[in-house]
Amino acid sequence: MSQARESCGVFGIYGHCDAAELCYLGIFALQHRGQESAGIASSDGQRIRCHRGMGLVSRIFDKNTLDQLHNPMAIGHTRYSTTGSSLPINTQPVVAEYSQGQIAIAHNGNLINAPLLRRTYEAHGSIFHTTSDTEVIIHLLAKPDHVIKPDPLAHVLNHVQGAFSLIIMLPDRIIAARDPHGIRPLALGRMGTGTYCVASETCSFDIVGAQYLRDVEPGEIVELDHRGMTSRYFCQPGQVTPAHCVFELVYFADPASLVFGQNVHTTRLKLGRQLAIEQPAKADAVISIPDSGRCPAMGFSQESGLPYVRGFVRSHYVGRTFIEPSQEMRDISVKMKLNVIRESIKGKRVVVVDDSIVRGTTTRAKMRSLRQAGAKEIHLRISCPPVRRPCYYGVDFPSSDELLAHDRTVEQISEFLDVDSLGYLSQEGMLSCMDQPADHFCAACFSGQYCVAVDPQVSKYSMERNQLHMF
Ligand code: SF4
Repeated sequence: MSQARESCGVFGIYGHCDAAELCYLGIFALQHRGQESAGIASSDGQRIRCHRGMGLVSRIFDKNTLDQLHNPMAIGHTRYSTTGSSLPINTQPVVAEYSQGQIAIAHNGNLINAPLLRRTYEAHGSIFHTTSDTEVIIHLLAKPDHVIKPDPLAHVLNHVQGAFSLIIMLPDRIIAARDPHGIRPLALGRMGTGTYCVASETCSFDIVGAQYLRDVEPGEIVELDHRGMTSRYFCQPGQVTPAHCVFELVYFADPASLVFGQNVHTTRLKLGRQLAIEQPAKADAVISIPDSGRCPAMGFSQESGLPYVRGFVRSHYVGRTFIEPSQEMRDISVKMKLNVIRESIKGKRVVVVDDSIVRGTTTRAKMRSLRQAGAKEIHLRISCPPVRRPCYYGVDFPSSDELLAHDRTVEQISEFLDVDSLGYLSQEGMLSCMDQPADHFCAACFSGQYCVAVDPQVSKYSMERNQLHMF
């Protein structure tokens, strides 16, 4: 169970009389991609309305708010902050009015040149209302020089760098666009004649009853309006170099989803099988850290022939625990969320499969609870390589110093976690489980090879000076 957090989930629907209600269901299905805030903007073809709030989707919307958003097109967003603080002003969709009319934007990803662009605009007098990188896109679109371009959006998207899967709504249409590397996912679906959906993951299509058509391609702009679906590219073919986030398939995405065109659950089974080939262990049973380790643990069990047993029970009712930060109380907090089934563990040599280790503190607590339950041997197996570098493209990893594997060997990590053996899947092994060629994926948090040059000084809070708190 990783401590890395996704940046956001986005959903849009055009051409349905219950668009806002379906958008609500769409972002509900994407809740795992962000739980800090959410919002929906809808349009009747003339005016855009929006409702946003802090917290879970189910808490923000009720019948009354959805009735007010009742329109034939809508876009929605669930947020985990990776640029800018978790504040009401930074909730999305961002809605603004400029010389060309109203616009609403929902964004998944991080624009790595946003701090520089913002400083440049502020030097010329622009006033920003949020501290998120997404607002920079609106300022670029509003620039008088850009408004008169033949394709202002294409021009602007060539100015921003980093990861962006965008859903933009103008009063009469929805536009989806994806960066030239296709770092974060964005899928297109159809619900019938003239009704189209676009979303971070296809699990949201399953909920609303849409059929997956294809992904929005890296570097592509797709428009959904009264003409149907039209497509164009904002960059030259040579600039399109896929670098899909492999961590989406390893950890983030819902197992039911198709991400980058491949099923997440099946991929994780393959990762588990490959892990068993590369890192076998003499043991009596395989258990998983719920929920994220479940699919690779099943794959490990299939390949190794070791029985897959249930070792932990996860409580779905524990929220944040406001307890003293002593080790003893932290252990209790871990047990409240994840209790061991003693009878599955006692006296056994167990292989424990998890998807990743980030800080390592919760992993260590879980290994300790297995020991306390009487495990004879613990062989920890991780279905990706050691996470050694931060992500600048929309995943909130801790800083390098806080990453357990940043400056430690596997032996040192094994010692820290107090396990009998530790084995990670190799990068080659991980990428061999992908349907696309290995060089179509970003694996920079493992390898340090970033597809877009990054400034290590840029952080989640680079857009902020004095934090403005609005309540
Ligand atoms: Fe994904 Fe890691 Fe690349 Fe970030 S650095 S986009 S988490 S693979």
